[in-house]
Amino acid sequence: DITKQLDKVQFDTQAIQQLDSAHYLHPFTDHNALAARGARVMVKGDGIYLWDSDGHKILDAMSGLWCVNIGYGRTSMADAVYKQMQTLPFYNSFFNTTNLPAVQLAALLVDVSPPQFNHVFFTGSGSEANDTIVRMVRRYWELMGQSERHVIISRHNAYHGSTIAGVSLGGMAGMHAQGGPMVPGIVHIGQPSYLEGGSGMTPDEFGLVAAGWLEERIRELGPDNVAAFIGEPVQGAGGVIIPPPTYWPEIQRICDKYGILLIADEVICGFGRLGAWFGSTLLGIKPDLIAFAKGVTSGYIPLGGVLVGDRVAAVLTEKGGDFNHGFTYSGHPVACAAALENIRILRDEQLVEKVAQDTGPYLKQKFTALADHPLVGHADSCGFVAGLNLVRRKGATVHGNEVFDGDLGVGMICRGYMFERGIIMRAVGDRMIIAPPLVTTREQIDEMTGKIGAALDDTLAELRRRGIA
Ligand code: PMP
Repeated sequence: DITKQLDKVQFDTQAIQQLDSAHYLHPFTDHNALAARGARVMVKGDGIYLWDSDGHKILDAMSGLWCVNIGYGRTSMADAVYKQMQTLPFYNSFFNTTNLPAVQLAALLVDVSPPQFNHVFFTGSGSEANDTIVRMVRRYWELMGQSERHVIISRHNAYHGSTIAGVSLGGMAGMHAQGGPMVPGIVHIGQPSYLEGGSGMTPDEFGLVAAGWLEERIRELGPDNVAAFIGEPVQGAGGVIIPPPTYWPEIQRICDKYGILLIADEVICGFGRLGAWFGSTLLGIKPDLIAFAKGVTSGYIPLGGVLVGDRVAAVLTEKGGDFNHGFTYSGHPVACAAALENIRILRDEQLVEKVAQDTGPYLKQKFTALADHPLVGHADSCGFVAGLNLVRRKGATVHGNEVFDGDLGVGMICRGYMFERGIIMRAVGDRMIIAPPLVTTREQIDEMTGKIGAALDDTLAELRRRGIA
């Protein structure tokens, strides 16, 4: 029994926390606040569970950071990486060289991706994938003799990474407020959030309205100045915002009408997350470029990249000459070996099909039933991403819900109780979100929704004690 085994391991949590706050600057973290609290030390993962240094077993309903699609503790992943490290731990793909895992992975990615993709560019992360895309689409239009077409349209509350191009593409106000100026030639339209903007409309009507904002902006900018539109099929970090079904097909129609490139950021949605190899296929679009990372290796080793559709690849390869762009770790043999094994697992265990046909629908049934809880105003899911909104009082429709004052931090209170109940959920404001590993079984979904329900009760009890609810 792994729990007993781990109980025996002596970890000095405090000593680790002290060293952590002395030297380690964490991403997206208030350093002083963390130092005062002490970081939770994760020491072990197996399947969908994590253990911390105090021996707590925690159900990881966030798959690490939306990435551990095959679950933790896969020894065949370790074996694949070990073997590649012994054979060839590194070589670059500059200067007319290549390596076997990179070639094999490129061919395999072409096989699992939509038919318009026959080429791949490798990076080390999702942010680098999006940086590559910015340079690639602008290069494409230069080669097409239309270099004035350089503006990229994105969306408010989008997340596309933390490098300077990633943050500029993203639409996170809190990120734009720091470390500017942002990369020029990137503009943002509204997000397709029915809860936020769809009052008085059906979801389908709102989907068309939200897509129409793209056409309005293209007209304002002048179509001859617009290079591309970028979006996450389902927004992840923004709070699992699932667009109405009419949204993406209308976006596709508008992009086609004005000849602008369509980019799907599938860093979260790719590799089965939505119950399809790529979310764009599920949502009815045919992007020219796809950014991927996370699920390509299930996070075991960093890897990202860009699937380059035929329209762009033809121009870059046939008349482009050198594309002066690339990373030391582009096509890293060990990362590619990890991806090959990860994709083998996804295929052999039919994890994508399982999410599509069995566990995804089951999660939807169990998760949306949480909307019966007095604290939950709305709950929805798409494949293996899901979210629920904490509300003060429910109205007759989702737009009539009375929300909490944002300063109360109700989402964070709830997140604390989730941890106490042994489950990791993320809070985006007062929306609680999950993205469980694709290996999660029906029984584990029962365990997960049971724990969520209990933590919602705990949260409601505290809010009532404090006179907030
Ligand atoms: N795009 C999306 C949609 C993401 O969710 C993320 C990461 N959460 C990124 C890009 C950036 O990826 P990375 O953190 O690997 O740079």
